[in-house]
Amino acid sequence: MATLKDFRNNVKPNWCPGCGDFSVQAAIQRAAANVGLEPENLAIVSGIGCSGRISGYINAYGFHGVHGRSLPIAQGLKMANRELTVIASGGDGDGFAIGMGHTVHSIRRNIDITYIVMDNQIYGLTKGQPSPRSAEGFKTPKNAPGGSIESALAPLEIALSAGATFIAQSFSSNLKQLTSLIEQGLNHKGFSLINVFSPCVTFNKVNTYDWFKENIVDLEEFPDYDPSNRVMAMTKLMETNGMLTGLIYQDKVKKNYEELVYGFKQESLAGQDIKITEEEFDKL
Ligand code: SF4
Ligand code: MG
Repeated sequence: MATLKDFRNNVKPNWCPGCGDFSVQAAIQRAAANVGLEPENLAIVSGIGCSGRISGYINAYGFHGVHGRSLPIAQGLKMANRELTVIASGGDGDGFAIGMGHTVHSIRRNIDITYIVMDNQIYGLTKGQPSPRSAEGFKTPKNAPGGSIESALAPLEIALSAGATFIAQSFSSNLKQLTSLIEQGLNHKGFSLINVFSPCVTFNKVNTYDWFKENIVDLEEFPDYDPSNRVMAMTKLMETNGMLTGLIYQDKVKKNYEELVYGFKQESLAGQDIKITEEEFDKL
């Protein structure tokens, strides 16, 4: 059985020292080992951005795609090989700007993949422009000295509205929680969205580690919170301005895309008195 070290390779990340993405890499490696995966059963697809390099830093199949397109690749991979565990990953610019259409449609399609977003609320790779997650008024010295005039996107509220079956949020400084949420996402039989506050220490001087520590509201504070209650999830997200961490919502009942495709195939063959097993279906 694979252990943590089996998911490590000898590629040295070129992230800046202190970048939050290091913790996300470590959490994925730990979670993969903890849920009993083998490197040859795991594929990590990433988009473009500093965080997009993550697919090269973990010993598993890796695919570094193009900007905003990690999800179409990940979905195709999963449908072509349903035995594979597929993680898609990228930054907030990648997933919530150019890739937002794919994010919403992957969510409502409910394909069994885990999508991990490293949300640093800025474009880091291109040296610090406001991203869709930057707050209104967010200033960067060279690109937005007068402050961003656009309001920040609320991706978890959008995901909930789009019919997400698993929504979680965590913070790079909380490796224990992040690892646990990735494990739960990997075990969830449907599309799992895990947004991670992952500070960019080089360009974002506003949303720092200290800022997140002061502003995060963890679900541990609400012992009566019920993650199967969609209305409660939306209310709590709005009350906390999206700064909620923990398992925010999970629907364990809704069928995933693969189950529905299999059922559709069975039904279309029903009139012909042909019965196929799931294994035979996979070979079609
Ligand atoms: Fe991380 Fe920011 Fe450096 Fe990119 S520029 S590696 S996001 S700290
Ligand atoms: Mg970013």
